[in-house]
Amino acid sequence: MDTIAQKMLDEIEEERLEVRRNAVLTGITLIGLLTGVFFQFTHAPSLYVTIAFAIAFLAGGVPATIEAIKTLKEKSLDINFLMIFAALAAAGVGEARDGAILLFLFSLASTLEGYAMGNTKRAVAALMKLRPDEANVLNADGSTTRVPVEELTIGQVVLVRAGERLPVDGIIESGIGAIDQSTITGESIPVDKEVGDEVFAGTVNQNAVLTVRITKTAGQSTIARMIQLVTEAQETNSPSERFSEWFGERYTYIVLFGSFFALGVFILIGFPLHIALYKAATLLVVASPCAIVISVPAAVLSAIASAARSGALFKGGAALEDFGSITAIAFDKTGTLTNGKMKVVDVLTLSDSSSSEVLALAAALETHSDHPVAKSIQLYAQQSSIAIVDVSGIEAIPGKGIKGIVAGTKYWAGNRKLMREYSSLLSEADEQILQALEDEGKTTVIIGSDVTILGVIAVADTVRDSAVAAITALRKQGVKKFMMLTGDSKRVALAIGATLGLKPEEIHGELLPEDKVRLVEELTRSGTIAFVGDGINDAAALVKAQVGVAMGVGGSDVALEAADVALLSDDLTVLARTHALSKQANLIIKQNLIFAIGIMGVMVCVTIFGNLPLPLGVIGHEGGTLLVVGNGLRMLFRKT
Ligand code: ADP
Ligand code: MG
Repeated sequence: MDTIAQKMLDEIEEERLEVRRNAVLTGITLIGLLTGVFFQFTHAPSLYVTIAFAIAFLAGGVPATIEAIKTLKEKSLDINFLMIFAALAAAGVGEARDGAILLFLFSLASTLEGYAMGNTKRAVAALMKLRPDEANVLNADGSTTRVPVEELTIGQVVLVRAGERLPVDGIIESGIGAIDQSTITGESIPVDKEVGDEVFAGTVNQNAVLTVRITKTAGQSTIARMIQLVTEAQETNSPSERFSEWFGERYTYIVLFGSFFALGVFILIGFPLHIALYKAATLLVVASPCAIVISVPAAVLSAIASAARSGALFKGGAALEDFGSITAIAFDKTGTLTNGKMKVVDVLTLSDSSSSEVLALAAALETHSDHPVAKSIQLYAQQSSIAIVDVSGIEAIPGKGIKGIVAGTKYWAGNRKLMREYSSLLSEADEQILQALEDEGKTTVIIGSDVTILGVIAVADTVRDSAVAAITALRKQGVKKFMMLTGDSKRVALAIGATLGLKPEEIHGELLPEDKVRLVEELTRSGTIAFVGDGINDAAALVKAQVGVAMGVGGSDVALEAADVALLSDDLTVLARTHALSKQANLIIKQNLIFAIGIMGVMVCVTIFGNLPLPLGVIGHEGGTLLVVGNGLRMLFRKT
């Protein structure tokens, strides 16, 4: 197994042992406490009582003391310090029982907290178990050898039998079958794959015998990167997390000095010393910020883990909080709102050349491009058995098209923007033909030489099934502004936008990649916004938006790098559901902070002005902490 995964498993194992050790110590603390109380009730010799409470103090206090000393070495105080201090203070004024209750509940809460937070990591670790440890490498003679996945190299071919999980990322060499990709993309319906299609480690080959050529090493596979991303995301802090941490640190000092100050005041206004000390110790406990510190991470970590399970990877807590508070969302059209699987529907000549000559020229140029439009033309030429002629001096112009030289003449294929670079113009009649195609939502690719226009190829894309549902859901969830951005012509954009239920003013066509970035930047000034793209020609916009969402990134590295959120499937409803999840996470964070601060305020007031027994203060304090952890953990079990 690769190092990241191993490191994570080690960490989880270590934390699991720690939780277990703390559970045992908490148990001993409880026994000490109960025994002590029993001896008190039965008026046993006071030595017995002392020994019993001493055991409770040791078992409940030693781990906290070790933690407190660790923090003290870094020249700062933490909550552990406050609790130990309060327990000793209670013992000092003859209330050892109350001190033991404090230590027992504190240690119980820490144990439960450790267990609960461990769950958010285990949810990610579960992803790791999906990948088999060994693969069947196909030898030249047709036999197979079992090889550990870490030893596999790119280019080797592995055999995957029906029902087996894929051990690697690769390309299918032989076989046709349905693959259940739900572990990676969250899509429940299996995807049909054939020779040449990409498959991912950890997915299930349902019914075929496949041979797969490895394209990525085990450490680089999509699932390995997913695990790495989520692990890193859980380690980076969101703004609210930073707030709660910062608050926790400062606040510890305030509580400590505040309690000393209160002690002075209590004595001054005439409380007997032991009551003043008892009240100050209670104040120390109820004013401690345990709940505030844990309230945010409990929600954020759970939400990140839960999103990962449905195929949405957040790069960190900040992305999660931002996504939950977006007011506007901008979409790239091709490959994002549409399937990006374009099909040539018409080849028209606008000159003396035959339509197959037009197609041949276009195909010759487009062989050198990866654009969805280009791919459709390549495929169509192949299906029409058009021979591909040699081209030299190829130049791709992003947002416009492509040019090159065939048999000494310069040719180009692209949109009107590219056409305008040449002296050639469309005649009135030809312009009508193009507009008619575009009003039907078909993209037109004009083919010309440096002196004239030769013909046009009409390419149709289909709107994603999930797009309308996603946009409707996002509107309902409170996203106010929508924007569709495309380099395609305005007419095509309007036609497609209409089927999506977008308003004409929300649709922006004929944009160069830099125009998209500019529009996204303008939109960011109006508040927090998200840009959703497929990573082709839009990495800059992904970076510009506060929340860049890359979709369908089963394999693409560029998109994963540039994005703040990566959706592994092509299903746009995952986008809407992830937004709902982020919103809920924000809500829970708010609830938690308000509740934690509120309960603390109430208890501090009751302690100062009333008469709060220490055990009750402890129950309120630790109970509050567990409640916020539980509230945050709801995100983990949420169905997205
Ligand atoms: P989008 O993803 O919004 O379609 P692009 O910047 O990728 O934006 O492309 C914008 C437009 O430029 C396309 O709609 C197409 O008209 C033209 N274009 C880009 N690349 C090519 C190409 N290789 N061949 C033909 N036309 C192209
Ligand atoms: Mg695009």
